[in-house]
Amino acid sequence: MKKALFVLCLAVLTVQVVFAREIIANNSSATKKIALTFDDGPHPKHTEEILDILKEYGVKATFFIIGSNAQKHPDIVKRTFDEGHELGNHTYNHVFINRISDDKLREEISKTDEIIKQITGTAPIVFRPPGGAYNDLKVDVVSATGHKCILWSWWQDTRDWSCPPVDKVVNTVLSNLHDGDIILFHDFNNGNTPTAKALRIIIPRLIEMDYEFVSVSELIQSEV
Ligand SMILES: [Zn+2]
Repeated sequence: MKKALFVLCLAVLTVQVVFAREIIANNSSATKKIALTFDDGPHPKHTEEILDILKEYGVKATFFIIGSNAQKHPDIVKRTFDEGHELGNHTYNHVFINRISDDKLREEISKTDEIIKQITGTAPIVFRPPGGAYNDLKVDVVSATGHKCILWSWWQDTRDWSCPPVDKVVNTVLSNLHDGDIILFHDFNNGNTPTAKALRIIIPRLIEMDYEFVSVSELIQSEV
């Protein structure tokens, strides 16, 4: 009996460890659901342009916010939250988390959480590592702060930050679409960004295809 209990405890512990280190890139069980995600903002011009488009189509998305940018544009953070989008933590300084100490990572996360909470009243529960760079130990640190670590569907990296032509961004998304995809865009861009123009093509097409746009938190909880 004692041995059985020990094995059971070990099994529970193992499941918890695996769960704790979870890093999520998509959810193929989320039938006909998609999560649009926008990184690195807020940007004084592009974020609001994207919010206008999302509002026009009644679409919800997730914004992975950089703390230092949130401090510069709290009004845009507030608008993003008020319009029903999910806000995620993307560090304070956009640092690659595999290159900093555990303490520094905790500081980057808590500082950004605090800024977003001061503006909106709610702290993020999802975190995306800048550049998608991470290692197992750093994922453990992120998990211990109470955030789920989120990447994106690897086939849904639009690379819009590098300002490719609009049709290239559109094709990346539409030609590789799977249920439960997490699509990666950037609302912060200092170049000739194709993102807003691409969204005006992508969103109506996905609506035609009966996709439901959900936040990352909703997507990863969906079983059917
Ligand atoms: Zn980023």
